[in-house]
Amino acid sequence: MDASVIEILSLKAGDYFVPPDHREKVCLLSDGTLMVSQSYATDMWVLSYVENLKHSDFGFEQKTVSTDEVKEAYGGASSTSGHSNANNTHRQNQVTRMIREAVGRKASDIHFRVQREQVEVWYRIDGRLLKAHTYSLIDGHEMCATLYSSMCDVAKATFIPSQSQRARVAASFVEHLGVSGARIESRPTDTGYLMVLRLFHRVDLEKMSISGSGYMPSQEKLLRKMLRSPLGVNIFSGPTGSGKSTSLQLLMTLLLRAMNHELHLLTIEDPPEYPILGAVQTPILARDQSPAAVSAAWTEAISNAVRLDPDTMMVGEMGDVSAAMAAMRLAMTGHPTWTTLHANDCIQILQRLEDMGAPLALLTDSSIITGLINQSLVRKLCECKVKYTGNEEIPEDLHEHISQFCEPSNVYLKRPGGCPKCDGSGEIGRTVLAEVCIPNQELMDVFKRHGKVQARRHWVNKMDGVTKTQHLISLINQGLVDPDTGSREIQLDQDARTL
Ligand SMILES: [Zn+2]
Repeated sequence: MDASVIEILSLKAGDYFVPPDHREKVCLLSDGTLMVSQSYATDMWVLSYVENLKHSDFGFEQKTVSTDEVKEAYGGASSTSGHSNANNTHRQNQVTRMIREAVGRKASDIHFRVQREQVEVWYRIDGRLLKAHTYSLIDGHEMCATLYSSMCDVAKATFIPSQSQRARVAASFVEHLGVSGARIESRPTDTGYLMVLRLFHRVDLEKMSISGSGYMPSQEKLLRKMLRSPLGVNIFSGPTGSGKSTSLQLLMTLLLRAMNHELHLLTIEDPPEYPILGAVQTPILARDQSPAAVSAAWTEAISNAVRLDPDTMMVGEMGDVSAAMAAMRLAMTGHPTWTTLHANDCIQILQRLEDMGAPLALLTDSSIITGLINQSLVRKLCECKVKYTGNEEIPEDLHEHISQFCEPSNVYLKRPGGCPKCDGSGEIGRTVLAEVCIPNQELMDVFKRHGKVQARRHWVNKMDGVTKTQHLISLINQGLVDPDTGSREIQLDQDARTL
């Protein structure tokens, strides 16, 4: 065959196009030869390119060669950077459109599941995962690669699917989409990789209130009391995605407003994700992402903060004992501190601190630990809800719980198949399930002597503590939450079993 008529298909805009930064990996010729560099034989991009080719009508034969040979094949071919830029812009627009759509649907996360033959895109909306799109491998992969390589603030902009990577999306790409920022995290899987884009929705704090987020009036009163306290550590707990960051952001905003912004509220976060108007927000500065380096950075940042003359501190999380100790030292030096911790109920926070290795004498001092809060989110019924009475086709044990713990005539269920407003799910939006406790020394002494279970009993029986179970039952009795949905968060008989 006359070599002069062989064209380099991978240089042409279209289905077989190979962007310049992949041109040492593969070269596709019009005679059906696909040259693949041995060094990149297992490269994710190459695999997806080959897979895509297999699904096209183009007959080809794969040849494994050296990287130099691939480069040579492109030889003196003229630069096609114009094509590359066009492709990049096209992909960026595609990603931007998707983010806009996801924000519009109030999604908190976008998941890209990159598999052998296709890419599935899922949105998390109100805690539920919904499949939104399916792309060809090459389309989906290029969107992920474009997102990471050209839309993020990263020092090394090379997306490597075989590694775990994280980055923040550059503000210029997302600011106009209704989010304050976005973060991506990726990890290889057995069939490709997973990329998760977390969207930080801009919330209108002016319009938000504690009661509006679902706290009961008695709980709101306690939170306001904590805000006024001149000392102590107040700890929010709850599972990931429980909205504790949003609640904290709201409380800090209320605090600043109450003080007419004449307050030095210093935050330490990894990294700051939700803007708090009037606060000085600082990221932790870890040497690298190893747990030891991150832990050291937290402790260092909290210790360092005292010398930055704060009035009130907000510490993103107390991940380990040294961070917890540093936060307690802040409180002891007269700096009210707000922070978060993973725990399943408000009294369990004390247990967690003890398990982490914090000294019992400190964590049971009611002048140091001044606020214990736990929250999770539960989906709310849509207006299309139906009355429970007359629609009793639900599991037997749930019937028993409703008749035992609720007022059946006030209970509503989600309508099977929903309505257009709730996307057919019967539920729309979420509300808070919470526990709020201002510990007194008596409660602390019960915990010290008898442990968590007795302390919880003391809180409920002697201090009128409202448990999340009680909060849930009150929401069910107001017809706001479906009992089945609610039971997935907390069993209705939990208090009866544990208190
Ligand atoms: Zn509905």
